[in-house]
Amino acid sequence: MYDVWKNALAEIEQQISAANFSTWFQDTSLISTANGNIIIGVKNSFFVKQLRNRYLDIITTALKNNNITINTIDFEVQAKVKSKVRPREVIAGKDPIKERVKAIRNTNDMKSVLSNGLNQKYTLDNFVIGSNNDLAVSAAKSIIAAPGTRYNPFFLYGGPGLGKTHLVQAIGNELLKKDPNLKVFYTPISHFYSDFIDAIQNGKGKEFNRKFQKLDVLIIDDFQFIVNKEKSQEEFFNIFNDLFLLNKQIIVTSDRLPSQIKTVDECLASRLTWAGAFDLQLPKFEDKCAILRAKADLMGAEVEPEAIEYIAENVNTNIRDLEGEFSTILLMSEVRGLTPLELIENGSVSVNKTTKLRPTSPKQIVEKVAKYYNLSVKEMTGKSRIAHIKTARQVAMFLLSNELKLSTNKIAAEVGVKDHTTVMHGIKKIKQDLKLNFTLRDQIEEIKEKIYG
Ligand code: ADP
Ligand code: MG
Repeated sequence: MYDVWKNALAEIEQQISAANFSTWFQDTSLISTANGNIIIGVKNSFFVKQLRNRYLDIITTALKNNNITINTIDFEVQAKVKSKVRPREVIAGKDPIKERVKAIRNTNDMKSVLSNGLNQKYTLDNFVIGSNNDLAVSAAKSIIAAPGTRYNPFFLYGGPGLGKTHLVQAIGNELLKKDPNLKVFYTPISHFYSDFIDAIQNGKGKEFNRKFQKLDVLIIDDFQFIVNKEKSQEEFFNIFNDLFLLNKQIIVTSDRLPSQIKTVDECLASRLTWAGAFDLQLPKFEDKCAILRAKADLMGAEVEPEAIEYIAENVNTNIRDLEGEFSTILLMSEVRGLTPLELIENGSVSVNKTTKLRPTSPKQIVEKVAKYYNLSVKEMTGKSRIAHIKTARQVAMFLLSNELKLSTNKIAAEVGVKDHTTVMHGIKKIKQDLKLNFTLRDQIEEIKEKIYG
């Protein structure tokens, strides 16, 4: 019985998102299959409704695929599981519910990975498009429409938890949906290495190489972990070139541009961004709300708009954290029988995930920007119209506004310009340039590191 259910669960897991799977199927069991009357054990009546309404078809198919005859399917609340979730017992400073929620969340990492490295839970349908990722998504769509043509290689970069893996896996999955015969392979660079080293040690270097040469689409994740082992970097470069020359699609993600990874060969670095580099940025408030609304829909959960806004407002790190906080609240809401907003209002949850930046001062920002551009503060805040000095001044304005939220009048005083419209213009100019000018983007990131580092 246990094995049947385990197999059925493995199948179900392939078909729904990891979050849904761990929320709805985590504590289920198969109690009986006698005479085709299936009884599935769940932890409380809330789950009965959800499973019946949303997953009956999937459950039925999964059981049938495991040769179970089905007349009826019923759900039964199991007392053992139920007693585990009695609310409001705080023992020795540890809230058991929070502990449980944490444990369930950890199982979110359960991966259902196919031999091509793809996890079917990552689709384009469940990737919310917003101002933080629209350019990258439109490139992804054109790759799905015609792989190996326009954006090849496709280089996608951005900080952790912003959706790189999701987006490139989605490209792979969508391509396979269109053409199941396509040979797609996804691998984090670290696995590429260890596989390569294994192959060499077992005298199977040629086979390794051949396997890659046969691919139509190669997806390499977390390229920043490339190591400075000449041989393996050379191997990667060779495979890259072979595929590239055959117009096979290459997709690479990284947390930064190749030129910023010290161990990467210059020539390889420039090849990787040959067709441009796309990045994923931190989501804005509206983007975060849209993502949360989509997640709520997917999970069939009703969440008050105010609760969504509260979470969006308070998670400023990345989308992974945003999802994490959200599923914690949903689980607590289910366990405690309160709505998300009620939980927030009665203080049961307090979300506060913010990138921890050390406080800084206007003076420090101005100094660091000047230094970065090899200027003295006096030069930078003077009247010079020379292009690079003007740019430095505008970067300072931008950072004073973005990091310290100073008013344009205050900024004007800090950078030595007469009126605040010049400041407004300067900030707007930098914001606009940031959309396409990757060098500028990197410079600003580096300056920020210097300010806070
Ligand atoms: P990265 O690879 O950049 O570290 P991931 O792709 O692992 O980030 O994304 C972290 C989590 O956030 C994943 O669960 C992913 O599904 C989710 N996520 C990221 N971006 C989006 C988006 N635009 N819409 C929906 N979910 C997203
Ligand atoms: Mg990733």
